Parts: sequence; structure tokens; C-alpha cells
Amino acid sequence: MLKGRVAVVTGSTSGIGLGIATMLAAEGAALMLNGFGDAAAIERLRRELAEQHGVTVAYSGADMSKPAQIRELIAAAQQQLGSVDILVNNAGIQHVAPIERFPDEKWDAIIAINLSAAFHATKAALPGMKQRRWGRIINIASTHGLVASAEKAAYVAAKHGIIGLTKVTALETANDGITCNAICPGWVLTPLVQQQVEARAKATGQTIEAAKIALLREKQPMLRFTTPEHLGALARFLCSDAAATMTGEALPMDGGWLAQ
Ligand code: NAD
Repeated sequence: MLKGRVAVVTGSTSGIGLGIATMLAAEGAALMLNGFGDAAAIERLRRELAEQHGVTVAYSGADMSKPAQIRELIAAAQQQLGSVDILVNNAGIQHVAPIERFPDEKWDAIIAINLSAAFHATKAALPGMKQRRWGRIINIASTHGLVASAEKAAYVAAKHGIIGLTKVTALETANDGITCNAICPGWVLTPLVQQQVEARAKATGQTIEAAKIALLREKQPMLRFTTPEHLGALARFLCSDAAATMTGEALPMDGGWLAQ
């Protein structure tokens, strides 16, 4: 379905980004991977994805907190792979603390990586998409883009912000063959959430398994995690012709979190 298309997925060395990148490669898209991690492990991942799916896979270690590096990431994809047709703004970090004790530098980093990076990448990718009259921008927001939780001030602010950016991008591209949507996952058991599970287990003396269930039970009626593969399938749908008129949406996949 995506043969001849090029996808840039930020933060795709792990978790949800990797799940989405894998699904897009399976549909034939060439990939620009991005994210941090062990260089040898990333190179192994790059080669495996390319061999398994018969697509070109490149990698950039651009730091999504740095606008100049974000522009370089988009330029590198255009130079090495020919274009940027699909942009998945996924890289993200978390920090949990009450506002009075929330470190200023964590606020700045979360706003930069979880929100501003999507603006800079979208700004850099749009001219090429408009020229080719086809584009799919998928912003990975969160249920926290639509409702709040205590002790996540920066994350909730950034995720609400990215849903606003999604709507503006949709309006500005409505007649250019481009769609822009946000995906709002509930709990997904990635390293980002594993840290929260471990912190909870430590604070309460629970086992890791008990802490997982307690974490789910607090917010999510369905006591199971959404997976990166589930989210990859939703991203694939958003890249399909069936979703050609779907734009400006914030789409939850959240085990009933937002139904309450
Ligand atoms: P993760 O920690 O598994 O992956 C994060 C990815 O972002 C990694 O590849 C990491 O290297 C990369 N990254 C972090 N900082 C970066 C930077 N400065 N520059 C470039 N890359 C950077 O986390 P995840 O859970 O897969 O999160 C991915 C996205 O999904 C985030 O935006 C997160 O907010 C969102 N999300 C996650 C959940 C969940 O339950 N896990 C729920 C809703 C939304």
C-alpha cells in the first residue's frame, strides 16, 4: 500500500514509534528511523527492518529538542530517500512531579520534545508534501491530550498543545492532499511506562505485576495494555485511501479511559 512512499518516524528506536515504523515498512514505505540508544543495536534494527520488509531504511540520531537538528532530519530523509510523505511525530519523554517541585529543565525538555519538535518537523516537511500534493502527518498525543492527571503538568500541557497543532495543520492543508491527525493512546507498556510501573512498585511495596494492574485500574476500565502493534495498525489506516478525508481528529485507543 505504501510502496514508493517515505516515512519519517521520530523516536522510532523503541516502543510505539518502533511499532508504527515496522507497520509502515511492512506496507512498503522507505523509512527514516530516529531516536536514541546503543549504536550497534540501532544498526542491527535498521538492517533487520530493511531485510525483513525489502525497503530502504536510514537512521538519524537527531535530537528532537534541537530545532536545527530536526530540520536536518527532514533534509536528510529528503536527500537520502527522495521525499518525506509520511511524518510521524512520536518522540516523547515523561516526568512525574507536583507543580511546586517540577524541575524547570524537565518542563522545558518535555515541551521541546513532546510539542515543539512536532511544529519544527511539520514546518520542514510541509513544502515537499504540498508540492507532491500528498502527505500524512500523524502526531502521537495521548489520552493526556484530552484529559489531565495530577503530577504530569508538562506532559499534559504538551499533549493538549499537540492536539491544537494537529487541528491547525489540518486546516492549513485541507485542500493539499494532506491529512493531519493525532493518535491518543491510553496505557502502552513501553520503557516510558515501565519506569512509572517500577516507581509505583517501589513506592507501594507491590510486585511489578501488581503495580501494573494498579496503574491500569486507576484510569483504564480495560485492564490490558494497548500495544505498539495496535497503534501501528491505526497509523497504517490513517495512511490509507480510506482515511483520505479524515483530518484534524484526535483518535483515542485507550481501553475505555475516556469513556468515563
Ligand atoms: P519510549 O520511551 O519507548 O520511546 C520514546 C522514543 O523517543 C525512543 O525512541 C527515544 O529514543 C526517543 N526520544 C526521546 N527523547 C528524544 C530526543 N530528544 N530526540 C530524539 N528521540 C528521542 O516511549 P513510548 O511510550 O513509545 O512513547 C512514544 C510516544 O507515545 C511519546 O510521545 C509518548 O508521550 C506517547 N504515548 C505513550 C503512551 C504509553 O503508555 N507508553 C501513552 C500515550 C502516549
